[in-house]
Amino acid sequence: MPSVEDVMEIAESIRDRPIAIVDERCVAVRNRNSTCKCCSEACIKDAISVSNNTVKLDLNACMACGACTAVCPTEALVSLEPPDEALAQQAVNSVEQTGENQVIIACARIASKLTADPRKFAEVPCLCRVDESLMLSFASHGFDVLLVDGNCKTCKYRDTNDVTDFVIDQTNDLIEKWGGTAQITRSSEFPADCAMRPEDVRNLRARERRGFFGSTADKAKAAAYTAAMKELHLKGDDKPKSLRERLQAAHGHLPQFSMVRHDNALNALDRMGQAVDDEPFNTTMWGHVTFDKEKCNGCGMCAMFCPTGALKKIDGKSAHDPYTMEFTCSACTDCGLCEDACFKKAIHVSEMVKPSQLMSFEPETLQAIAPSQTFGARPLS
Ligand code: SF4
Ligand code: SF4
Ligand code: SF4
Repeated sequence: MPSVEDVMEIAESIRDRPIAIVDERCVAVRNRNSTCKCCSEACIKDAISVSNNTVKLDLNACMACGACTAVCPTEALVSLEPPDEALAQQAVNSVEQTGENQVIIACARIASKLTADPRKFAEVPCLCRVDESLMLSFASHGFDVLLVDGNCKTCKYRDTNDVTDFVIDQTNDLIEKWGGTAQITRSSEFPADCAMRPEDVRNLRARERRGFFGSTADKAKAAAYTAAMKELHLKGDDKPKSLRERLQAAHGHLPQFSMVRHDNALNALDRMGQAVDDEPFNTTMWGHVTFDKEKCNGCGMCAMFCPTGALKKIDGKSAHDPYTMEFTCSACTDCGLCEDACFKKAIHVSEMVKPSQLMSFEPETLQAIAPSQTFGARPLS
């Protein structure tokens, strides 16, 4: 009969995938000239690698912190522990419990100490999992957000601190720019009114023991399902998919996506009202592009590879008419792929964005450039 330690070890080894990768959203998959390495640079375990049109996750190395999902500009990495919707729901439920004007999100380390009532906060593996859009959404409804850590100095996730602090600063800057009063703060302690009573701690420990075996059974089922799917895949289709198939590309066009987190952040800013001024602000969430008219040869590669449709090439009425480029700032995620894909170095993405550019939602006509050249199917890079 296996010991509890054996069961723990097995449960750990079959744990579910913490991060989903949506290949066709990743700019490095879309074009091998992409210089985006945001995820691999943020990962302190070297668990994620990007090369040759692929992005790979090493499940053995990944500790499920979620840092990569917070920094990916195109939402190609999706956190499953917990998914965004579940985290938002947890946070809403916790506010209903406290009745306070503050949302509390705590890391698993401090949560495991059972010093605070788990109904009064939402839990994430590490605070670096929390992205700007969630905090902006609460701020736009007048809630402060408190992120509680478990004393990071001795934590295995401690090197992700830079990501957490960067996201907090960027969110506070946006709130300030939009004249909001909510604040995002960080602490190593829960507020006093979240404290657990001793009898609650005892009840919770008993529930957790029962929950452990329940979730272990679920994980075993999930592992069996994954193994079965792998088996079927190997039998039915052992030919690796081409890049074109992975990208679902047809007739030279690549799929384009709405960015859910970015849209949520824009909706939150809209709820806050007008920005206090129209001076450009520095952001990694959106970008603004400019063209060098002299260098652009009209190949349209920038628009073709843009994952969001922020850049569009509009042909002239005839082959001799100049064409134009349309750019929609609110759809640009500052991924930089247009700049990387342009062989002529004719396009530049800036992280300085004006509130009026961001919130107009109307495409800007960048400029009329050279007469149109054929913009048909091209081989993927
Ligand atoms: S787009 Fe996202 S997944 Fe792709 S390389 Fe950049 S950060 Fe990584
Ligand atoms: S979740 Fe954390 S450890 Fe896993 S790949 Fe992403 S950054 Fe690396
Ligand atoms: S316009 Fe450029 S930087 Fe913006 S989303 Fe499209 S490819 Fe990325």
